[in-house]
Amino acid sequence: MARKTLNLGILAHVDAGKTTLTERLLYAAGVIDEVGSVDRGTTQTDSLALEQQRGITIKSAVVSFAVDDVTVNLIDTPGHPDFIAEVERVLSVLDGAVLVVSAVEGVQPQTPLLMRALQRLAVPTLIFVNKMDRVGADEERVLEEIARRLSAAIVRAESPDVEVLAERSEPILAAYVEGTTLPAQVLRAELAAQTKEALVHPVFAGSALTGAGVERLMAGIAQLLPAAERDGDGPVAGTVFKIERGPAGERIAYVRMFSGTVSARERLSFGDDIEEKVTAIRVFDRGSDEQRASVSAGEIGKLWGLSEIRIGDRIGDLRTADPQFAPPTLESVVVPADLEEAARLRVALAQLEEQDPLIAVRQDGSELSVSLYGEVQKEVIQATLASDFGLEVTFEETTPICIERPAGTGEALEVLHAETNPYFATIGFRVEPAPDGSGFEFRMPVAKRAMPLYVYKSAENFTEHMREYIHDALGSGLFGWEVSDCVVTMTTCAYSVPDGPPSKRGPLSTAADFRKLTPLVMRKTLEAAGTVVCEPITSVTLEVPTAAVGAVLPALARLGGTFEAPTMDGEHSRIESVLSAARLNDLQRELPGLTSGEGVLESDFAGYRPVESEPPKRR
Ligand code: GDP
Repeated sequence: MARKTLNLGILAHVDAGKTTLTERLLYAAGVIDEVGSVDRGTTQTDSLALEQQRGITIKSAVVSFAVDDVTVNLIDTPGHPDFIAEVERVLSVLDGAVLVVSAVEGVQPQTPLLMRALQRLAVPTLIFVNKMDRVGADEERVLEEIARRLSAAIVRAESPDVEVLAERSEPILAAYVEGTTLPAQVLRAELAAQTKEALVHPVFAGSALTGAGVERLMAGIAQLLPAAERDGDGPVAGTVFKIERGPAGERIAYVRMFSGTVSARERLSFGDDIEEKVTAIRVFDRGSDEQRASVSAGEIGKLWGLSEIRIGDRIGDLRTADPQFAPPTLESVVVPADLEEAARLRVALAQLEEQDPLIAVRQDGSELSVSLYGEVQKEVIQATLASDFGLEVTFEETTPICIERPAGTGEALEVLHAETNPYFATIGFRVEPAPDGSGFEFRMPVAKRAMPLYVYKSAENFTEHMREYIHDALGSGLFGWEVSDCVVTMTTCAYSVPDGPPSKRGPLSTAADFRKLTPLVMRKTLEAAGTVVCEPITSVTLEVPTAAVGAVLPALARLGGTFEAPTMDGEHSRIESVLSAARLNDLQRELPGLTSGEGVLESDFAGYRPVESEPPKRR
């Protein structure tokens, strides 16, 4: 029988039982002989010590097991919203998911966020109501809460509700209206079909601790989620969702294959036209990974030999469809406890950046800073530096990463041989404001004969180099922030031609003259235009008990948030607000106190807005 593969994620609010359920599934599938215990810290998937301490899972790891003819690759998904980019990156490689909800605590703050991310990416999802063995477990209440807060399209897996299925199927609707009793098989097939389309979500109940209901969930995973037949034909397409370093420091890429086959010793293209040879492949199959000659569509492979591959890279045919993540909006200076360790810290941070390019390390003099999405990330970086590199560090205060936009149009020029010009080149620029979010555009109307083509060989190459020089110069505007949302035009260009001896015109212009003069002229151009410092802002959706609205709104106002009138839905109210990204952490910290722990917060990057007070300078 052809074996099928299913890439599965288990998601849950912290403590709902994700780790325990994972262990129980591995045990039921015969992968492990003994059920580990999160309470004793002996589980398979929590590799990072910090995760055990905090009880959160941050890095993805893969474990696989077999159910009937399906190989299930269980991909560990991070559960904290500070890592939503990482969550989405992992969700995009899943075929299906199990969302765990505690039967005692019910829907918890992160549960709706995770469900929304799953729905956004149309991941077929089963819901497991866990902890049914505990006192206070109330299945009915939790089902009602799930229907209200997560999705109305839920169906008990054991006794599929015809009404919910009928809403999405003509034949079932007809039978329902006529009062015909449908055979259980037909309902089961319809449930599977609608689940695989992510239209409905079957709900299972049980206990990860005792194992009750886990066999039924296993059967549901194999039968209701869309496992794919392995088919190695077609063009190569895959996504890199994790990078790991091997014992010798070599890079190992975890790739989910969507189409085609990659074989060892094959050359692969990825990223910006990089091509490298795959030297070895391991594929996940029943328990762990094993050495293979190739990895095919549907499977997850670990690839060796790709020294330049980065997380998020697409290989083969999907390269253009890269998901766009919001930029990190915060940063903090990292200080080594032992100042002698600064060089080692730089190397260590560079390696972390490789695993997650969004960490973006910046060096300013002897100071190193990293970009962040939230405060929890500091703890993760701190713990990783300690455990993987033996480096103790502290962080300085978290500050927002602002940008500068040109305030108007500005022009400037430096001419060969002028006293203010230390280099042998003539450069003129104009900068103009461009629409918000448009980034940086470069225009080159200069005639070819004015370009130093004896150095740059072609007009295209010169243009490309000038774009890079300007891009570098725009990295630090009048207040030290990156200048964005602008159009820069090269208005004038001339180079020096030697004469003599004796020489009056000086030596021939070199590439260094153009490279070094660009930041000087760019600076003058920005000074002529003026710049506006803009801070990152976040749009926030709050779901709070209606009784807490009176406490939440003044707190939002105090944090500088703007908001519309809340919408009420019985006991719960929704508040939409826009807030400075720098204040989001304060709101997150205050929310539990303001809402007796019932408040839910979802945030999204919402662009930049001019800073109203004194514009902050970058350190
Ligand atoms: P995670 O944070 O979602 O991975 O949750 P864990 O698996 O670490 O579980 C959190 C706590 O709940 C631990 O103390 C578990 O022993 C406990 N737990 C998990 N599942 C169950 C269950 O089905 N019944 C009971 N009574 N406790 C459970």
